[in-house]
Amino acid sequence: MALAELGGKLRSSLLKLQSSPSDAVTTETLNAVLSDISRALIESDVNVKLVMTMRTNIQKKVGDLVSDGPASRGNNPNIARLVQKAVVDELTAILSPSGPTATKPYVMKRNKPNIILFVGLQGAGKTTSIAKFAHYYQRKGWKTAMVCADTFRAGAFDQLKQNATKLRIPFYGSYTEADPVVIAEEGVERFVSDGYEVIIVDTSGRHRQEEALFEEMREISDAVRPDDTVFVMDATQGQAVYDQALAFHGAVKVGSVIVTKLDGHAKGGGALSAVAATGSPIIFLGSGERFEDLDPFNAKSFVSKLLGFGDMRGLMEEMKSISDGKSQEELMENMSKGKFTLRDMYKQFQQVMKIGPLNKVMGMIPGMPEYLIPNGDDESTNRLRKFMYMMDSMNDAELDGKIDLHLKNDPNVEKRIRRIAAGSGTHPTEVKMLLQAHKQFEGVVSKMGKSGMMGKAGAARQ
Ligand code: GDP
Repeated sequence: MALAELGGKLRSSLLKLQSSPSDAVTTETLNAVLSDISRALIESDVNVKLVMTMRTNIQKKVGDLVSDGPASRGNNPNIARLVQKAVVDELTAILSPSGPTATKPYVMKRNKPNIILFVGLQGAGKTTSIAKFAHYYQRKGWKTAMVCADTFRAGAFDQLKQNATKLRIPFYGSYTEADPVVIAEEGVERFVSDGYEVIIVDTSGRHRQEEALFEEMREISDAVRPDDTVFVMDATQGQAVYDQALAFHGAVKVGSVIVTKLDGHAKGGGALSAVAATGSPIIFLGSGERFEDLDPFNAKSFVSKLLGFGDMRGLMEEMKSISDGKSQEELMENMSKGKFTLRDMYKQFQQVMKIGPLNKVMGMIPGMPEYLIPNGDDESTNRLRKFMYMMDSMNDAELDGKIDLHLKNDPNVEKRIRRIAAGSGTHPTEVKMLLQAHKQFEGVVSKMGKSGMMGKAGAARQ
């Protein structure tokens, strides 16, 4: 089951709880919901044992709260929310590195060379992921370069070179040198002395014998002494990636993992949970063939997004990297209190325009109405821009919610809407659409703020 489909199923199971009044949440309802969730996860290839443990844990946490006896009815108005929270926590645990080898992901350091070695089997998407990874850091202002130390596959250097040229990222490789260790060493040395911050080394993904592949990886690793070794694996193999990940772990010290091809594939859930079980942190997910199709991975954000709660943490992290922290903190503070004015919405749009690609970012905003989540970037950027022009035509009191533009059939408000439309070169119906979008946003933010699901203000600073 593709992840989007899995998300849809999990969401609709949880909605069954939300839409029924609290006193109707009985053991039977809870069991039905947990069965739905378990089935969806197993269909997505998540290990049955993990799913069963999750189910038992949730039952332990919330089982006592529900009862079939009329006496206990209505005792706890928050059952739906508590079940939801238990599901989020358990799914997050499944996707978090566990076991004795559990490691923390490497954190890139500014103004020093960060040497990142990429390993993985041929076809997993290693070369593509390297280009995406380089693009990701370059976009954030890191001085980035790539080295091709795959001399086994004909065309490997050309592929890396092509990507690097398109992205305008310096690269190093050779058509004549046959020893990948020599190339890796020379390339890294050159970029280190030129002051590069992110130096990515591509290695071969295939050899005549598996042992030779692992030996070559070890030699390159000894030569360049990487700060992090990233293992790239293909999600389409589902749970089977577990053994592969362990084998690579045994050969070189894998520090982090990128899981590719999560777009539209049936076994995504299986692959992600299997990687987590090996103890290696997943740092990015590949979700397509374009350079932009790389999403930073954080288990909690991933689960929130999968369940349709938005991804505040991911969004804040993206924003933090491009904006001044103070206004972001204020916004976070407001949102965690459930407050969300038109001005807050304006600020969010402003940030979103800077980050791009829009469709990724918009999906992270909790409560973002579906019709505003772009499919073609130009069209939605224009729509967003138009909304911002309208907000530019509002005065401070309107932006800060001191004057309520949501009042219906109020001649004064109608007059204001006409003024805003005229000022922004739009039609009053379009201004009403903006107000409707804001209302929808505000509703979700307020619900989430009150439920504590947005975390404490400043949580994104961790
Ligand atoms: P390598 O042999 O590991 O270097 O693999 P490549 O980078 O050449 O990728 C193999 C194929 O997988 C290519 O056709 C890529 O376009 C494709 N690919 C890589 N990552 C993704 C991804 O996240 N999603 C999809 N749909 N395709 C991907």
